Amino acid sequence: MKLKLLTLLFMLSGICGVQAQKMSRLKQAALKEAAALEPQVTKLSQELWNYSETALKEAKSAKLLIDVLKKEGFKLEENVAGMPTAFVATFGSGKPVIGILAEFDALPGVGNEPVPYKKKRADGVMSGQGCGHNLFGSASVNAAIALKRTMSKRKIKGTIKLFGTPAEETVVGKVYMAKDGVFNGLDAVIEWHPATTNGVNFGKSLAMNNFEVEFFGQSAHGAADPWNGRSALDGVEMMNYGVNLMREHVYPTTRIHYVIPNGGGAPNVVPDYAKVWYFVRDTSRANVEKFYQRIQQIAKGASIATNTTYKLRLITGVHSYNRNEPMMKAIEQNIMLVGTPKFTTEEQAWGKQLQKAAGKKELGFKTDIKKMPKDWKKVLPSGGSTDVAEVSFITPTAGFGVATAPFGVPWHSWATSSSHGTSAGYRGALVATKVLTLTGIDLLTDRKLLEAAKADFKKSTGGKAYKSPLPVDQKVILPKQK
Ligand SMILES: [Zn+2]
Repeated sequence: MKLKLLTLLFMLSGICGVQAQKMSRLKQAALKEAAALEPQVTKLSQELWNYSETALKEAKSAKLLIDVLKKEGFKLEENVAGMPTAFVATFGSGKPVIGILAEFDALPGVGNEPVPYKKKRADGVMSGQGCGHNLFGSASVNAAIALKRTMSKRKIKGTIKLFGTPAEETVVGKVYMAKDGVFNGLDAVIEWHPATTNGVNFGKSLAMNNFEVEFFGQSAHGAADPWNGRSALDGVEMMNYGVNLMREHVYPTTRIHYVIPNGGGAPNVVPDYAKVWYFVRDTSRANVEKFYQRIQQIAKGASIATNTTYKLRLITGVHSYNRNEPMMKAIEQNIMLVGTPKFTTEEQAWGKQLQKAAGKKELGFKTDIKKMPKDWKKVLPSGGSTDVAEVSFITPTAGFGVATAPFGVPWHSWATSSSHGTSAGYRGALVATKVLTLTGIDLLTDRKLLEAAKADFKKSTGGKAYKSPLPVDQKVILPKQK
């Protein structure tokens, strides 16, 4: 009996050992698949950089990624949520369903040759990958492919969904996809973002409403018959004055900023049309709603006071990123397994030149890992907003950053556009491909991780269903295609 028990214990420990080994072998195999995709990671990164298409005009970029995924055997849904450049690529069947986000849009006006100083692109393209979405799109698509190949060879059950999400820079793509239920039915979503540091993302992003207010008046001669005029610009100025008084009564976490894209044509013409464009942000969605309501009252008051009429239009709105601790921990472990980009001496020298040109300390690219602090929930918000936040309120979501630009150079600038079109940027994208692939394997095969992620999600959302910040019937406004 004793012997039998011992034998049984030995057998059990043997099985566990084999499983642990198998697990690591599986991850090794997945990593190999990802590494083998290096030429394609570079190629797609480069082509998306060449295109550098801005929000909702990413026709060539979307087609490039769609074609690669189709060729690989993914099932494609195109023209999703009313956006011709939004798509979903699916492989496999059944649970779990793991999503990967891929962005690819560029920023207007920041295009630069891939050189360590400011120089307009020789091909005349003015837009640029100042946020590195060329690398984002390439790495995510390649990770989906590495996962698909590993799943096929190792007969792993489940579904991979690659989401082609356009117009992140205008905080639009995922907002409308979320509103249309495109992210429903997922078990978890992973994402990454180019950065100047390496590590899992733990900071708060800000919830936001982006809206414009148009005022309409009556034009007249500014000096000859001003009594016939009603100034639309007065409406804008009166509104801004009201909002600026309100500033003293908002929370320390609230941020309000505006520009006046239209304020009239000439001083001697009373403007019959003026427009002001606002962002209201806060760490909490509820606070954004609260001050948005007050600003709407201020706009109404301004129109009454200036005898003008007005029209307010909500362009887009997002939540604050809902972080998922079990997934963050899994990602951090995978970053440690993969390691940070191994920049060459030439690449580091190039990075220092770029930093010098941008007036920053010549420190090169970061190669250390910024660890997630224990009290990460207390870290102050970074200030930006992202439409990934919408996904994070629908399903457990987590992401990370990889150094793709030298430390300290201004983001969304000519400098980052340049770096994201070089071998150093592509090196970062390859690391991201690998980390996404390993985390995908974890989520597909580690039931405990997925359960923990779901429990954490339920706790943070209080079990409440996702509610879009936009009115149900609001449709995307597509830009005029050139
Ligand atoms: Zn970005």
